[in-house]
Amino acid sequence: MVRLITHNILACHAKGCTSNNFPLQFQDVSIELREAEFNADFLRGFLPRLEWPALVGAARQLGDTSLPEEQPEMIDDEFLQKLHHVLLEIHVEEGAMVCPNCKHVYPISNGIPNMLLAEHEIG
Ligand SMILES: [Zn+2]
Repeated sequence: MVRLITHNILACHAKGCTSNNFPLQFQDVSIELREAEFNADFLRGFLPRLEWPALVGAARQLGDTSLPEEQPEMIDDEFLQKLHHVLLEIHVEEGAMVCPNCKHVYPISNGIPNMLLAEHEIG
C-alpha cells in the first residue's frame, strides 16, 4: 500500500536516473483515510530518518497542509498526532508517482505501486 511513510524512501531507479530522482510526484491520485494505531515511540524513533521537505511536499500534493515547513524542535503530542495521520493514515489508492527527473510514471492501482521498469529502463 502507498502511504507517505513508504513514499518518503522511494526514488526513481530507472537506468541512468541518478540525480533529482526524489521525491516522486503524485499525479491524479485518489486517497482513502484509514485509522491506524497511534504509537508515539515509533514516530519519535522514525522522525530523524524522514526526508522532511519531501514529506511536507507530498502531504500537500495529497491535500494535507497540517505539517509545518520546518521540522519543529519541540516534539509534542499534538505534532506527533499530525505526523501520525500524514505518515500512516493517508492511503493512496489510485493514481501515479512521476519521477521529477526522467518523468518515468509509476502507476498505483488498488493501493499497490508498480515499481517495475521495462527492460530498457533497468540499469
Ligand atoms: Zn527517473
